Amino acid sequence: MSQAMADHVNVAQAGGYRKSAVMSTAMRRKDLRIPEKMQAWVLGGPDELALTEKPVPQPGVAEVLVRVDAVAVCGTDLEVISHGEPALIQGGMPFNKNFTPGHEYMGTVVKLGPGVDEFEIGERVAVEVHAGCGRCERCREGMYTACLNYGMNYGEHDKGHRANGFTTDGGFAEYAVNHVNTMVPVPEDMSDEEATLIVTAGTAIYGLDVLGGLVAGQSVVVMGPGAIGLMGAGVAKALGASPVILAGTRRDRGRLEIGRKLGADEVVNVSEEDAVAAVRRILRGKGAHYVLECSGAPAALNQAARMVSRGGRICLVAFPQEPVPVDVAHLVRNNIYVYGIRGEGRSATRRAAALMAQKRFPAKLIHTHTFPLAQVPTAIQYARERIEDAIKVVVRM
Ligand SMILES: [Zn+2]
Ligand SMILES: [Zn+2]
Repeated sequence: MSQAMADHVNVAQAGGYRKSAVMSTAMRRKDLRIPEKMQAWVLGGPDELALTEKPVPQPGVAEVLVRVDAVAVCGTDLEVISHGEPALIQGGMPFNKNFTPGHEYMGTVVKLGPGVDEFEIGERVAVEVHAGCGRCERCREGMYTACLNYGMNYGEHDKGHRANGFTTDGGFAEYAVNHVNTMVPVPEDMSDEEATLIVTAGTAIYGLDVLGGLVAGQSVVVMGPGAIGLMGAGVAKALGASPVILAGTRRDRGRLEIGRKLGADEVVNVSEEDAVAAVRRILRGKGAHYVLECSGAPAALNQAARMVSRGGRICLVAFPQEPVPVDVAHLVRNNIYVYGIRGEGRSATRRAAALMAQKRFPAKLIHTHTFPLAQVPTAIQYARERIEDAIKVVVRM
């Protein structure tokens, strides 16, 4: 086939694809009328959620209104609902402030703010949590999850910072406003439920990114097969890491099996075998190149430090509630690097969406339960108590 002919075929295919995308967008547009009020869950006191009516929010400059189609329950939602932190509303605890939690959502663009041409009405999008202020040093570096207009100013809207479900209203509602920078298109053949997992995979990618990024042919240990850990195993494998080792407890047996399907070459049940000894056994006495710590267990950092090789790198994604003793001498003597990340910076969500669109790992395996909006408290209970081995519980509108 000549190059001209090949181009012609490609254009024809692209045209065909475009047409079908436009058609389904038009078809979806029908039910996009926006009411004045919406149903939204709001946080009263600790562990008190109530379904109320709120005005539908209006998008400002560089923002769109998203009709929420699905929202996943995250471990951090459970923290916010019970303890308030890390949510911060008007500089204080989020209780009794008419605040709507929920940050792992996806939906359909229904209204464009002034000047928005990055998205069109009817387009399906997944969102990431943080819109940084865009004016501080960290935001300018792409580290908008560590925006400096945070702390006293965290959530100060005049500075442009917003973190939906933390400092601004989130997705346990029918509509939410999002900055265009926080949205990624969802492919037609990806389900709403799977699309809610994009931001979770984004956090895992950000962790690997901070560790150095190019993990092909290098060993990655993921500690803790929660949603982020499982995505970490999938992403590490998709990026060519070898071997990928996933460690969890006896309670996590089902999750470790899912981890295998997502891409873990080896799984370690730390209730049966010492985690450090297991990693050393699998790597024939050597340490790992990288450890992605997603368990939050108090001993995890010290264990990770003994899993990595001299000069190895550890990224902490989860953390224990209380301060813990750390063997600093071991870290220093062995030139071990330790990183902490917050959320999903440096457009990692966009890259996660690309990997998932290419079906590089079966993310949807971690979605286990679905509930309607009216049953958010039940959804939260399933996630909190891991009822029926729940991993990702999704609320669908
Ligand atoms: Zn989350
Ligand atoms: Zn900033």
